Amino acid sequence: MPFVLASNNAGKLREFSVLFDSMGLDVVAQRDFGVVDAEETGLSFIENALIKARHAATETNLPAIADDSGLVVPALGGEPGIYSARYSGMGDIENNNKLLAAMQGLTGEDRSAFYVAVIAVVATKKDPLPIIAEGRWRGRIALEPRGDGGFGYDPLFVPEHMSVSVAELDPREKQTISHRSKALKALEPQLQGYL
Ligand code: IMP
Repeated sequence: MPFVLASNNAGKLREFSVLFDSMGLDVVAQRDFGVVDAEETGLSFIENALIKARHAATETNLPAIADDSGLVVPALGGEPGIYSARYSGMGDIENNNKLLAAMQGLTGEDRSAFYVAVIAVVATKKDPLPIIAEGRWRGRIALEPRGDGGFGYDPLFVPEHMSVSVAELDPREKQTISHRSKALKALEPQLQGYL
């Protein structure tokens, strides 16, 4: 029986497929079942990941997996947080500009930040005991954007112990150390017990 992935993002589908393949499981994008994105009405990464997973399970009657991720800046009270994709109401460049403007004058520890990814798995639409796995990637926000790889806030995010932004990293390196890969690693043992 396949798992439905509650995202139509090709990159995410690839990352999830690698883990699921190694466990002999099949992941299919929700689009292949005609499922459209759920509205993210939660106030936390966990709630939004669960909303998306339950929506996909409800629409398909299959087990479902979803993730919700974003950038958290403690000095900004956690912003942009769950609103990372919608921060400026426009695209990635505008989001980065808004973040830089909000952080003007902040120095040292006040520029620390982390990416977070939460993955939720539900066996059925009403599953009372979903699996939740989380991964964090710590770093700091640079004073200006650098590099043209990656997406989202990558040109501004400098991982801890590094001097380059994620947009300057080899994408394969990003994939092995990112918040999403950490969440996937945390998911694996839980999923084995679940199945
Ligand atoms: P979603 O989980 O697909 O809704 O993505 C949330 C948003 O968080 C993205 O649109 C980006 O703005 C930001 N984000 C999440 N992960 C990353 C990342 O790996 N690099 C850069 N931005 C990210």
